[in-house]
Order: sequence, then C-alpha cells, then structure tokens
Amino acid sequence: MKQLLQTLKQIDGKGYKAYKSVQGHYRFSDFDLYIDYVQGDPFATPSKIRAVIPANKRALEASWLESYRRRVATEDVIARKVGNAIGKGDFSIKGSGKSGSIQFDRPGQEVLERSAVQADSKSITICISVGLPANGRKINGREAEKLFADAIPTILRNSVFSISDEEIEGTIKLADQQEAIRAEMHKNNWISFVANGSVLPRGSGVSNRPLKGAVPFQSPIENEVSIEIPHQTEPIKGMVIEKGITLIVGGGYHGKSTILEAIERGIYCHTKGDGREYVLTDPDAVKIRAEDGRQVTGVNISPFINNLPHKQDTTFFSTENASGSTSQAANVMEALEAGADTLLIDEDTSATNFMIRDQRMQQLVHKDKEPITPFIDKIRQMRDQLDVSTLLVMGGSGDYFDVADSVIMMEAYVPYNVTGEARAIISENPVGRLSEQENGFGSISARYFQQQSLQTHKGKKSKTQAKGLTKILMGQTDITFAATEQLVDPSQTRMIAEIIQYLDRTNALGNRTLNELLNDIEQQMNQKGLASFTTFKDQHPGDIARPRRYEIAAVLNRMRTAKVK
Ligand code: ADP
Ligand code: MG
Repeated sequence: MKQLLQTLKQIDGKGYKAYKSVQGHYRFSDFDLYIDYVQGDPFATPSKIRAVIPANKRALEASWLESYRRRVATEDVIARKVGNAIGKGDFSIKGSGKSGSIQFDRPGQEVLERSAVQADSKSITICISVGLPANGRKINGREAEKLFADAIPTILRNSVFSISDEEIEGTIKLADQQEAIRAEMHKNNWISFVANGSVLPRGSGVSNRPLKGAVPFQSPIENEVSIEIPHQTEPIKGMVIEKGITLIVGGGYHGKSTILEAIERGIYCHTKGDGREYVLTDPDAVKIRAEDGRQVTGVNISPFINNLPHKQDTTFFSTENASGSTSQAANVMEALEAGADTLLIDEDTSATNFMIRDQRMQQLVHKDKEPITPFIDKIRQMRDQLDVSTLLVMGGSGDYFDVADSVIMMEAYVPYNVTGEARAIISENPVGRLSEQENGFGSISARYFQQQSLQTHKGKKSKTQAKGLTKILMGQTDITFAATEQLVDPSQTRMIAEIIQYLDRTNALGNRTLNELLNDIEQQMNQKGLASFTTFKDQHPGDIARPRRYEIAAVLNRMRTAKVK
C-alpha cells in the first residue's frame, strides 16, 4: 500500500495518462489489491480493480464451496453485502467526470453465477470499478489516496470482513432446499413447483421486487404435493405442474399472466425475501411469444407455416421483418432447435391466428388458402413425438380444452383445478372444428451459423458491446432482443456480448450446429468459468453473469448479419 500511496504523491497534478503507472499489484494489511486496467481519462469507462482476500483473513468453510449451487450462493451473498457497503458508504471523493465513483455489479432478485465475486478455498476476489480522481484532466492524488486507503478498505470491512457465518449459511440452506426441490421435480417429471405462501406479483411493471399486500399463493388440493427438504423438519407444500399440456384459464385481471411470469422466472433461483424463492421451473423451459419485426434466418417453420404467397420457402425461412405469426413460429422452432423441453405461452403476447382457428373460420377460409397450421393442432404432436410440454395461458378460447391434460383456473389470484369441469363441457358441447395436423410434427432445423455472421468490426477495431439488457452493439450493427423475456440481468447481456466477441476471435462458427455450439459454450462455462471467454481472464473480466443457452441462441438468432447453412 505504501508503494501505491507514494506513486500517487508523485503523479499528483500530472496529466491523467500518468495514472497508467499505478497499474499493478499492491499488498494491503488484510487483502491484495490489483489495479488491472486504468481508464484513459476521467470521463471514460472507470478503471478496473480487484481486491483479493486470502483465506487466512476471511476463511470460507469447505462445505460452502462444495457444489456449484453452494458456491454461487456463497458468492452471491457476499456480493449483496459488498453492494450494500458501497451503497451506504459516503466517501465524498471529489473531482471531474467519474472521479471517485465506485461501481459494483450488485445482484438483482436472481441468484446468478457472476464475476463480481469469486470464491474458492484460497481466497475471495471482489471485482470493482472505480473512477480515478482528477481535477479537470489532472490527477488528484489526494482524492485517489482517499479512494484506496479509505474507501476500498472500508467497503471490505463492512462486507467481506463483517459478514457472519450464519448469514452465509442461511443462503446455503436456501440453495440446498432449492436444489432438493429441483431434484424431486426432475424425478417426478414436474415442470414447475409453486410453493404455498409464495408471493408472485411484482411491485410494478418496472420493479422486480415483491408486491406488498399480495394474496399469497395457495395450491389447489388436486395439484398439491409435499416435498421433504433439508434444513427444516416440515416438508414444503405447493402446486406442481406436470409434464404435458396445461392450460391456465380465468377472467381478465385474475392473475393468469402473473403466475405464468413467476413460472417463467423459476428457471432461476431467487434470493431470500423475493417471494419466489420456492417457485422453481424446468431450466429448459422457454417463453414463446409473437415478436413482429424480428429478423429470422434460415429457420424451418414449415411445421406451422406452409404455402406462403409467392411460394416462399418455409423449410428455410428468412425475413428481415417477420409477422406476428411467423415470428412466433420461428420462436417455437428456434427454442426446439436449442433444446427446449417446455414451452411457456401467454395469450396476451401471442398472435391469435398462430394460436387458434375456429370452426367457422375453417369453413370460410379453406385450409389450402391458409398458410398457418395453428399451435392447437401441433401441441399434442410436440408432447407425444418430441416430449415437449406446454404451459399456456388462454382465457379467450375453449377450443384448447380438447387438447389439454389439465386445466387450472385463476379466480381472484387463487388457482383451482377445473380439469373435470372442462372435460364435462367438452362432452356436452363438442366442437366441430377439424384437426389440421399432418402425421408427423415435422422436422427441426439444425443450422450451421457461418463465421461471416459475426461482423464485429467498426473501422479497424473489433468491438461487441452490451447496451443495457436488450441490445448489443456488434461492430456497426445493433442486435436487439427486447422480447427475450427470460434474459433478466444486464450482466448476462454483457456475457453474451463477450461470447460473440470470443466466437469471432477464435473462429468458432461454421463447423458445428447451433445446438452443438451451445453445448460447447456451456461446457466451457462449466469447466473454465465465465471469464474464460473474455480477454482479461485472470484479471477483472468485466461485470458478467451466466446466461442460459436459450438466451445466447436468442441473440444469435436476431443478428441481422446472420448467415446460416
Ligand atoms: P390476467 O393475466 O389474468 O389478466 P394479471 O396477471 O395481469 O391478470 O394480474 C392483474 C393484476 O393483478 C396485476 O396488476 C397483478 O399485479 C395483480 N395481481 C396478480 N396476482 C396477485 C396477487 N396474488 N395478489 C395481489 N395482486 C395480484
Ligand atoms: Mg394476462
């Protein structure tokens, strides 16, 4: 530390570029500080530093790190502490531009693997970004001294060095329980579990926090199971959705979309106090919706769409501007290509003509004049031939009763199992619509993305950069994916941008199908970690968090520069 402070004295008042000389490794009394990257001026992206706390200063029990989920939970709870310590700290470091700003990738409601905190048996690494202080464009060494000698040690004191073993164990216990529920779900072919007492609605359309005063969830008796979980004597009770076809019906504003959204997010584990800690969903469940205007490149949508005007090929369908129905068909087919085994659909965000085609319309518009085979006629084939389940919110058409295995009705936010009633209605009022399904479901694309899909160059520089949650700037083009609803954290978007840049750098496309590519990416994340995709893999790798394969595919599928075979 002395050495750092000395250098800061020497460069005080000099031009900002002189800060480059502080890059390096410094020993503090209870941690090591690495200044990995120094910003070029006070207005640029802040400098990247790491604090590495050795195990003899803050030991972690071996059992906290013994499984992937436990390690992620440990890192997550520490990251929340660091985030709080930075939020509460008032270090009043002054200067121009970003002088004195301290940024940290604080987790949201989900517990994701992220680079912000990395823990192993030897040490805990905290990745922080700081604005090195300046007056105008001149180095302010005095303020920089406050930053390194006061702010950073204070933050660590109020987080890593003050978090109790009990706090960490509390998170580990929750992670164990979530794991136990997932294991039970897997064993029993359940695609979702929603515990009694869960709080599903969110604070508002823009808040991911629980709604205060919400009606707590209560399972219908027919769907209720009880699961033994570790760290508590009472088993946990709640509703399960089994594999197959499940409809959620009910009046408008009775909570249908809310429960589906909670289930959509159940692919992730949520933090304590979220209300959805015990809402867990098949990690291979993918939300499907209409998304008109999107790019589609070489997707076989023929199971749903055929005989388009002007004989456009739907076995290798491309467009820069998909319609509601073709975009939804492409979203289904791409999810299947990437390996999805459950589809989640809400009527609110679906194209009506993709979902239904009733008896009267069949009479007026003949099948040979209608390119669309509606989802209702493919849903059982997916179940029977592909082993793909569907959970569908559908308040607007009873035609789906015919194909459903089970029907849940939401009434004033309370679910009821109405499968029996729906069956009775079917036999009393049979629907005369003709099924339009062909014999087989049809085939799923296995596309090879070509290397030239990745146009990362802007002038001489190659650059791919995330812009918030739903946009990536790749070279000179934007990739936008605002309808990819299960992408939840901008750090996941940053990771996907890193993956694209990595695929470009390593010439990794072309010789494997998209599905194989996603397998390889997942395997690399598992074996070598998220940072292995970045150019700073043994340093502060940037603020990145783990995305699922489906969201990586979603971004690649929306590249307007995509070339596929
Ligand atoms: P639907 O899809 O059936 O039309 P929504 O799911 O959109 O209904 O819910 C309508 C409103 O009710 C939303 O504002 C939502 O936040 C609220 N809501 C949903 N579930 C609950 C609940 N359990 N307790 C209180 N409010 C809820
Ligand atoms: Mg709705």
